[in-house]
Amino acid sequence: MPTYRAFQVTGQRQFELVEREVVDPEPGHVRVRVLACGVCHSDFLGVEGVRPDPGQPMVPGHEIIGVVDAVGPGVNTWNVGERVGLGFLGGHCGECAQCQRGDFVNCLNQPQPGTSEDGGYADIVYARATGLVRVPESMNPIEAAPLLCAGITTFNALRNSGARPGDVVAVLGLGGLGHLGVQYAAKCGFKTVAIARGKDKEPLARQLGAAIYIDSQSQDPAAELQKLGGANVILSTVTVGDAMSAVQGGLAIKGTMIVIGAAESLQLSPIVLLMGNRSVKGWYSGTAIDSQDTLAFSALSGVRPMIETMPSGQGVNSLLSFSKHPVEPPSTYSCNSR
Ligand SMILES: [Zn+2]
Ligand SMILES: [Zn+2]
Repeated sequence: MPTYRAFQVTGQRQFELVEREVVDPEPGHVRVRVLACGVCHSDFLGVEGVRPDPGQPMVPGHEIIGVVDAVGPGVNTWNVGERVGLGFLGGHCGECAQCQRGDFVNCLNQPQPGTSEDGGYADIVYARATGLVRVPESMNPIEAAPLLCAGITTFNALRNSGARPGDVVAVLGLGGLGHLGVQYAAKCGFKTVAIARGKDKEPLARQLGAAIYIDSQSQDPAAELQKLGGANVILSTVTVGDAMSAVQGGLAIKGTMIVIGAAESLQLSPIVLLMGNRSVKGWYSGTAIDSQDTLAFSALSGVRPMIETMPSGQGVNSLLSFSKHPVEPPSTYSCNSR
């Protein structure tokens, strides 16, 4: 029986390299040979045992690029040899109440690779066919991997924000999410404002396409945004609630703050919200076709993640070091798993 290597975690941070048997994919599933897997802040869910049964071993990783290796019964749209991706949401069921309403992102029976089922820190991953994304052959798999989580989340939030070219769009934070958010906002034609801590981040922000930089340490970000007429959209990528609270006063009339960074809590001013019909909303990733759109837009416009490549064993070490500091947003890394 052929086997494949997998880095599995049990409980909290108890990693081991194991050999598993290669089996046929289940109905509606495909077997994927992994080319690359990104390291993401949300990996802490699997690594720190924040999942239904931490006693059961789980392979983390949800920014996966690979090649279809075998196709299970009932799968008609995928063929062996095709390059595919798999992100944070593992594919909708097509049967639950949310799916019946066409709301596939909020499917009530959707696996999460690396958290509720095995993910990409392995040579092989099994995936529901509805979760798969077509990946252009021209795209470097190591660069494409983070676009399936940080990329889709920022791009999809921005393109559904209602902002129009020329509108003021502020991106709060310049980490794994933010450095992509600034690029997408600039390529969408928004008047892009980057907000981060410290003057030293300004050159990076400008290089990513920000027209304006606000240093939240030496400037009041809300006041600076109001000098620009207010932000039509603030894309909040940080995981610190206080930093989000500090920018809400920078929203334009009818402006929206979109929260995509997983902070523990957030203080809002009802006065700011109600006077001027401002709003705060969350945004949750997207469907497989949204990921495909993200890759296509990235290929078209030249948006790419900033990555550091490392072999898979080292990638596991970086998972461990990130997970010890879950409140700090890490940069996005892509790890070659071969
Ligand atoms: Zn992720
Ligand atoms: Zn469903």
